Amino acid sequence: MFSLPLILQTAAAIISIIVLYSAIRLRSAPKAFYFICMASAVAIYSYGYLFELSSNTLEAAYLATRLQYFAVPFIGPFFYLFVRDYGNRAIRNKVHVACIFIVPLLCCILANGYPYTRLHFSSLSYTLTPSPHLIVHPGPTFVLNFVYNGILLLMGGYEILRHFPKKTAADRLQRFLFLCTLAGPVLNLVFLLGQASVMMDFGPLALCLTALTLGIYIKRNRQVEWLPYAREQVVENLQDAFVLLDNEDRFLDANAKALSYFPSMRLLPAGTPVSAIEGFPFELLHSASPVREFTWQSGDDVRYLRLSTSPIESGSQNICTCVMLYDSTETHRLMIELDRLASHDALTGLLNRGAFFSHAQRVFDLALRHGQPASVLMLDIDHFKRVNDVYGHAAGDLVLEEIARLLPQRLRHTDVCGRYGGEEFCAFLPSTSCEDATTVAENIRRSVQSRIFPVMHTSLHITLSIGVASLRPGEDESLADLVKKADAALYTAKRNGRNRVVSMEALEREQVQSTLAMQTEDMA
Ligand code: GH3
Ligand code: MG
Ligand code: MG
Repeated sequence: MFSLPLILQTAAAIISIIVLYSAIRLRSAPKAFYFICMASAVAIYSYGYLFELSSNTLEAAYLATRLQYFAVPFIGPFFYLFVRDYGNRAIRNKVHVACIFIVPLLCCILANGYPYTRLHFSSLSYTLTPSPHLIVHPGPTFVLNFVYNGILLLMGGYEILRHFPKKTAADRLQRFLFLCTLAGPVLNLVFLLGQASVMMDFGPLALCLTALTLGIYIKRNRQVEWLPYAREQVVENLQDAFVLLDNEDRFLDANAKALSYFPSMRLLPAGTPVSAIEGFPFELLHSASPVREFTWQSGDDVRYLRLSTSPIESGSQNICTCVMLYDSTETHRLMIELDRLASHDALTGLLNRGAFFSHAQRVFDLALRHGQPASVLMLDIDHFKRVNDVYGHAAGDLVLEEIARLLPQRLRHTDVCGRYGGEEFCAFLPSTSCEDATTVAENIRRSVQSRIFPVMHTSLHITLSIGVASLRPGEDESLADLVKKADAALYTAKRNGRNRVVSMEALEREQVQSTLAMQTEDMA
C-alpha cells in the first residue's frame, strides 16, 4: 500500500529529476558546475531512499542505502563549493578542492564495504514499521560523515552571511533565499541526531526543495549573473592588449592578449615595476609623441604595436592607468603597400618619374654640398613602336619589364633608377664622373644589344640609345638642368644612328673642336 512516506519520497524523486534536468540545461550559465553536481547527488540520494522505502528485505534496503552513499557524503561539499563560487570566492586551488572530498570518498567506500568493514555501520537491521527502512547502528565514519556534512552546510551558511553582497534589496533577497534553502537540510540533521529509527528521513525531500529553490533562482538571475562574466570575457578575449598600471607605473593586471606579448607578466606579482617586464616599452608610457609605436618580435613573427594610455578615475581621483596596445601591423603593411604603389611604376616595378626625381634630388643635393661629381643617364629603346606594331602591346610590355630587370643589375645599389615615361628610363649615379658614367652606359647598351628577348615564339633583338650628362665638381647646376642635358645627348644619339651612348661632355668637346676648325678655315 502507498504510505505517506512513500508518497512524499516519490514526489521528492520526481522533483529531483526535474531539478537535475533543469540544472543540466543551465550548464552554460556561469557558476552552474557545482549546482549540477549537487542536483545529481540529490537525485541519486532521492532515488536511493525511494528504493529503500519500497524495499521488503534487509538486502534490498542495504542495496538502496549503498546507492545513497554514492551521493549523500558529497552533498555538503558540493553545497559549500557552490556557495563559494556563487559569492565570487571560488576555491581555485585544485588540491584544496580535492582535499574537501577525502572524507566523502572514504565514507562512500566504507559504507559500501559493510559487512567486511564495520567502520561506517557497526550493524544494520531492518524494519517494516512505521515504513520499510534500515535501522543503522553508526560506526565512527558514519558519525564523521554526519558531522562533516553538517559543518560544511554551516560553513556555507557562514559564507552567505559574511561574503554575499548586501547593498541592494535584490542582494538581501538573495542572502535570505540562500539561507532559507539551508534551513531544511540543517533542521533534518538536527532531527536525525541520535535517532536510529524514524518514520521518515526528510533529508532527500529537504534537499530537493533546496536544489529546486536554488535552480529557480539561478535561472531567473542568469542574465544578471552573466553580465559581469560576459564583460570579463569580452575584456579577456579582446584582440587588443591591455595592461593596468598603478600611479607609480607598477603592474596590476593584464588580459590574455597582453600576456601573449609579454609572457614574463604571467609570473610577476602585482606591484612589480613595469620596467621589469621583459620587452615592455615603458619609455613610451610618458612620451609626448602623438604616435607611440614599437616593434614586437617573437621568432619570425614581427608586429607593429601602437600604444595608448588612458587614466582610470574614481570620483576626481586618478586610481590607475590603462595601457592599450593595438596591433597596427596590417595598417603598416597597407601604408607600405600604398607608398610603394604611389612611388613605383606598376608595369616595371621601377620608381616612377615623380619618385625618381624626389629620390635623386636628395642624393644630388648631397653631391652638390660635398662638391662631388654625379651623372644622369637617359635611356630610350630604339624603334620601340615597331615592337608594338609588329608583335603587339603585350610583347612590348615584356620587353619593358625585361629591361627594367636588367638595369638595376648593371647599376650600384646607391644609384637611383626609374621609368621616365613610355619606353624611356633614367638613372642618377652619385659620385660618378662623366667618363665612368659613359662606361656604365656603354655596358648597359652592350648587354641589351647582346640579349635575346624571347617574345611571341620569336627572338627579338633590342637596342638602346643613351644620353649622359654629368655634374662636374664645384659646378652649380640643378638636377633638372642635368636631365635636360642628358636628354639632349640622347637626342643626338638618336640622330647619329641609335644604339649608341653620347655624353654631353663629348658633345661639348665636338662643338669646341668644330668651332676651332671653322675658325682655322676662316683664318686660312
Ligand atoms: P625611337 O627609336 O626614335 O625612340 O623610336 P620609338 O619607336 O622607340 O619611339 P616613339 O616615341 O615613336 O614610340 C614609343 C612607343 O612606345 C610608342 C608607345 O606606344 C610605346 N609605349 C609607351 N609606353 C608603353 C608601354 O607601357 N607599353 C608598351 N607596350 N608600349 C609603350
Ligand atoms: Mg621615346
Ligand atoms: Mg624609343
